[in-house]
Amino acid sequence: MASTVISVWLDVPLRGAFAYLHDGPLPSGQRVLVSFGNRQLCGVVDTTVMPDDIAPERLKTILQVFDSLPPLPESLLAQVRFAARYYLHPQGQTLFTALPTVLREPRDIKLPDRACYQLTPQGLAQPPAARSTAKLALWQALHEPQEREALRRVHAQASAYLKAGLASGDIAAVPWQAPALQIDGELALNDEQLAARDEVAANLGRFAPFLLHGITGSGKTEVYLQLIARVLAAGQQVLVVIPEINLTPQLIDRFARRFPATRIVCLHSNLADGERLEGWCDGWFGRAGIVIGTRLAVFTPLPQLGLVIVDEEHDGSFKQQDGLRYHARDLAVWRAHAANVPVLLGSATPSLETVANADAGRYRKLVLNRRAHGSATLPQVGLVDIRRQKLVEGLAAPVIDELTRALERREMSLVFINRRGYSPVLACSACGWTSACKHCSARMVLHLSARQLRCHHCGAQERIPLQCPSCGNPDVQPLGEGTQRLEAALQRMLPGARILRIDRDSTSSKAAWDAIYQRVHAGEVDVLVGTQMLAKGHDFGALSLVVVLGSDGGLYSADFRAGERLFAQLMQVAGRAGRAGVPGRVLLQTQWPEHPLYQALQQHDFDGYAATMLQERREAGFPPAGFQILLRADAPAYADAEAFLQGVLQQLGAMPEGVDVFGPAPALMVRLAGRERSQLTFEGANRQALHGWLRAQLPLLEQLARKAARGLRWSLDVDPLEM
Ligand code: ADP
Ligand code: ZN
Ligand code: ZN
Repeated sequence: MASTVISVWLDVPLRGAFAYLHDGPLPSGQRVLVSFGNRQLCGVVDTTVMPDDIAPERLKTILQVFDSLPPLPESLLAQVRFAARYYLHPQGQTLFTALPTVLREPRDIKLPDRACYQLTPQGLAQPPAARSTAKLALWQALHEPQEREALRRVHAQASAYLKAGLASGDIAAVPWQAPALQIDGELALNDEQLAARDEVAANLGRFAPFLLHGITGSGKTEVYLQLIARVLAAGQQVLVVIPEINLTPQLIDRFARRFPATRIVCLHSNLADGERLEGWCDGWFGRAGIVIGTRLAVFTPLPQLGLVIVDEEHDGSFKQQDGLRYHARDLAVWRAHAANVPVLLGSATPSLETVANADAGRYRKLVLNRRAHGSATLPQVGLVDIRRQKLVEGLAAPVIDELTRALERREMSLVFINRRGYSPVLACSACGWTSACKHCSARMVLHLSARQLRCHHCGAQERIPLQCPSCGNPDVQPLGEGTQRLEAALQRMLPGARILRIDRDSTSSKAAWDAIYQRVHAGEVDVLVGTQMLAKGHDFGALSLVVVLGSDGGLYSADFRAGERLFAQLMQVAGRAGRAGVPGRVLLQTQWPEHPLYQALQQHDFDGYAATMLQERREAGFPPAGFQILLRADAPAYADAEAFLQGVLQQLGAMPEGVDVFGPAPALMVRLAGRERSQLTFEGANRQALHGWLRAQLPLLEQLARKAARGLRWSLDVDPLEM
């Protein structure tokens, strides 16, 4: 008789767990089949929560227990509990976000047995003829237990050889076991690298967060690889989280070449469902030594976790922008803490959050200030003041000259066009005035159609000034426009140059990337032109000249993080110049050459500019000096979204001490996919106080949402990165 009440999490937007009956207890993490409404859903048992109080006679029974796989591990459930609580997200949905698609589905999953193969005594006694090198190599390898994959790497004929050997009894399947660790091609580290490696290595086995601040090309990846070698040698696993754009075949190759015998699982959102499941389970069952992947990889269960690495930790793609809006770097740090292992956050341009943690002594800082090889000197950064230049189709004469000269010398140049969707802020290039909001710490954005300046933080509105309110200059201009036609112009200015344009399409597929690399490394390209994706860690070989266009838009922006992003991006782009022996040069077109950001860039002074930006954040109470949670609402009509938020404001009543609310204000991108978006920003200097208070308001929010206009959607974004 079904008599035990079981709590089950479902993938539905409700906060609680659901109660079902079963004829005996089930363990936490057990996947089950239940009916919910008129659907059948996959559920996950959790013995640590009380089901809502429902009379047992009204409960349904669990329809099936999916027991081909073991129950999901407690470490994963703990991570989910933390993420749900921190991000104020329903726990059932959080759990299902963490699972690979196949495990979310209402069916039992049986994985193929992962066997190894080995020679039998009969096979050992019969070496193949010496002239058959393929067979000889395979026969040699099969003295030890080998996975099918590993054998394929020995020789392409492995499958045929295995099949024949299994049939003749020369080869037998044996239980899976980890292959012996093999480490190929380790480099001798320089002093800085050695110090970094040894400091982390000395902390293996306990929670210790590190910032590895190393300039581009300083050998961070080599430090990772040598630490990974230690962890693998101890029989443990490593989690490596990297930005979407960095997950290139080149990087994976580098790992695979270093550890040829190790199972390296690569997880990202473009995998087929089956592949993702298999990789996830290889992590879970301890077969994968290294799991490397984009943000979703942070949920992979790793029972033997020994080290966590987040590369390019400042990258915005670690933040999920819908559903569970988690930050993979922050969850990675949480995981390292839970597993009691070190976590290494690497970057040439760390986020201000991480810099602040290092300043406060919470993270230990390791520094790599020298390039590991090639040209030892940092590129020279030149600022081309375009207030005193006549531009030809957006390009200044010195820029065209330098490009022409590089072309004559047959050196490859890179033209980086900053085309991030900055919302235009008004600025006076004579005195430096910008359209700051009088009511809060944000900058007002120009809305030409409404003939207004609007604040997207607090909602204030103003008329557009006819002249600079500070110095009277009649020529106040919106910043950051005019990069639209530059590519075509380049082609006309540099007749005969072979220009290769890199855009989102050309980087979305592996084949396209390979084609680009091939052309670049075959010397078939004179000028590479592209946007954001060029800023990341791709090695394009010898670049003597890097030209930056259109970056002024990021100097002053409605988004308080724009300056941080721009600085990081320019540091990264500058880092492309002057690799492999050629001293590099960066030329940047600007009408604000005296801006502190550009000055710091010229000095390669990350620390100095980071300190300046942190000071600004402290003055404004913005992260990391304070904490934010956005309540977003969207509806087909703006008025409905705003009305909902107004209603919330009224019902919430007075804010508690230390919590402020701003808005409702239109989102920076008000209109998206036929819907209009408004938001409330909650801010507080104390994270616990802010989160705790908002968590307590969730029932009220949900109640108001049920009464809201038809078609209204709402969500909470904890530690938002996009306004
Ligand atoms: P980062 O990850 O900081 O950009 P990498 O680890 O990719 O740096 O190293 C940049 C280049 O320098 C690579 O080509 C790498 O092989 C080389 N390199 C790294 N460390 C050393 C070293 N100790 N000796 C020689 N070359 C090195
Ligand atoms: Zn002025
Ligand atoms: Zn304002």
